[in-house]
Amino acid sequence: MEDKFFTVKEVTLNNHCPECYSNDGLQLTFKQKFVENTFYKAISSDIKHTMICNTCNTEIFPVRWTDDLERVFEYQQRAFVPKSATFKLKKLSWILLVAIILLVIVLNVFLFNN
Ligand SMILES: [Zn+2]
Repeated sequence: MEDKFFTVKEVTLNNHCPECYSNDGLQLTFKQKFVENTFYKAISSDIKHTMICNTCNTEIFPVRWTDDLERVFEYQQRAFVPKSATFKLKKLSWILLVAIILLVIVLNVFLFNN
């Protein structure tokens, strides 16, 4: 199953892009992983970050980061507050749970009455 991420925070940086040297195109994005299927919906604490330059449309990988970029990134990462991890059951799961509980009760009553 493919991992899904949603954007939690986007920061525009004033640093120079290591590819095209423009200083108004860099954007740092923090994303957090979530899982959604038939039974539940969950936000995990897995964080992913990407830096892209909107001027030259290039993703700037950490190997290309300058010292300045690394400093800014460290600062932003410290300031970043991730969404708390959550786990929510969907309706189908609740229906199944209730059905199982009812079944157990019915079975118990049946067994005790005999
Ligand atoms: Zn660029």
